[in-house]
Amino acid sequence: MSTTNWQHKRVTVMGLGAFGGGVGLARYLASQGAQVTVTDLKGPEALAASLEALRGLPIRFVLGEHRERDFIDTDVVFVNPAVPLDSPYLQLARAHGVPLDSEINLFVRLCRGRVIGITGSVGKSTTTALLGAILRRHRPDTLVGGNLGGSLLGKLAAITPETFVVLELSSFQLEQLAWQRYSPPLALVLNVVPNHLDRHGTFEAYRRAKEGILAYQRPEDTAVLNWDDPTVRTMATRGHCLFYSVQERLSEGVFFAEETFFSARQGRCTVLCRRHDLRLPGLHNASNAAAAAAAAVVLGVPPATLARGMQDFQGLPHRLEWVATRRGVTYYNDSKATTPLATQRALEAFAQPVILLAGGYDKGVSFAELGQAIHARAKAALLYGATADKLARAVAQAAAQAPERPAPLVQQLPHLEAALAAAAALAQPGDVVLLSPACASYDQFPNYEARGDHFRRLVARLP
Ligand code: ADP
Repeated sequence: MSTTNWQHKRVTVMGLGAFGGGVGLARYLASQGAQVTVTDLKGPEALAASLEALRGLPIRFVLGEHRERDFIDTDVVFVNPAVPLDSPYLQLARAHGVPLDSEINLFVRLCRGRVIGITGSVGKSTTTALLGAILRRHRPDTLVGGNLGGSLLGKLAAITPETFVVLELSSFQLEQLAWQRYSPPLALVLNVVPNHLDRHGTFEAYRRAKEGILAYQRPEDTAVLNWDDPTVRTMATRGHCLFYSVQERLSEGVFFAEETFFSARQGRCTVLCRRHDLRLPGLHNASNAAAAAAAAVVLGVPPATLARGMQDFQGLPHRLEWVATRRGVTYYNDSKATTPLATQRALEAFAQPVILLAGGYDKGVSFAELGQAIHARAKAALLYGATADKLARAVAQAAAQAPERPAPLVQQLPHLEAALAAAAALAQPGDVVLLSPACASYDQFPNYEARGDHFRRLVARLP
């Protein structure tokens, strides 16, 4: 629904959630005079924090269930990105001619600023926050949002046509943006690796959802693409295209070599900034930084400002976050690593012996490559949760394929607490104990933040 007048409109918000998107949306719609019904399959206890944030607003709640009436007798249904698009309730709304909308769709329709959209399988939040830090040095009113942090609907009034608005966009949000044929004028695609196959079904469908960030760009728009990812490199673009790489010196684009980020135009290179300007470990973070630097180049940020913005950025919680050093052993919390590739990158980020804690909810992805990485790089793998057995088999298979290498110690444990206790007992001074689960957390925790916080508390209790 492309209305901007919500006075007395009946709106159903499907999925309140706990991440702030639903709260921001419901609050905005209520403030605009809409008659808001919020419905969520979760009950009031699970949604306590979100409900508290909406207290006192004229909102009707239908919790612990959905009622068909709310999808039929309404003017529009706002769909949380976590809702599967084949939900029978959405089919019901469609069958009754009720339009579907979403928080991100509404935001980009109303946003007057310069939107930069970032997607990819891994590295979205890091790159979004890093680019936000860089652009803030250039324009202090820069905003960061989308899939990261709460809704930006409440900030609309402060956004001018010059304001940079950096949006992390999940594949689910991109599917919703395609309803209104929207792509951001500056779009970054970081990588596409199998993820969320439980929802998207096939890699092809998932790739298409990611490619949606470019599908509706206009000729004057720009795509920033990762040259190092073969799927991304070959994505179809309609406007300008700027590549970045950490593996090759490009004659056109942004690349990382000799511990330096360069910008190349028609074969002529200029230095953008140095590796030590970036605090985040690992080549994958250099890749994220190259993506952010490329976007900054497109937006006209001078190199000195770019370097200062990188220095400002300390990384995000739960992403290779330093937790503590105890008895010479350093503990890192990488709870946000919910895919095998993210854990592979985390293993690659360390030169020290690594004791890996991994496992969790089974999304149906293959652990074959991760098994090889664990076999090649880890001193020990302490596995817990629903995927412990699957992971252990992947490491055993890798060991059988490469028997010349010493195999890591592999143990299966009932939960994270037991895995950490085993790690602490095993660790020698100089080792790294790394929580990088390669899996979502839903089998044992509400979300990755809860898992990472639990890990931090457990580490704090170590002798
Ligand atoms: P996202 O928002 O896409 O989930 P994050 O920036 O939150 O990504 O990072 C999630 C995890 O993925 C982290 O644990 C990090 O170590 C890993 N990671 C980050 N960037 C990359 C990358 N470019 N390639 C592979 N893994 C990455």
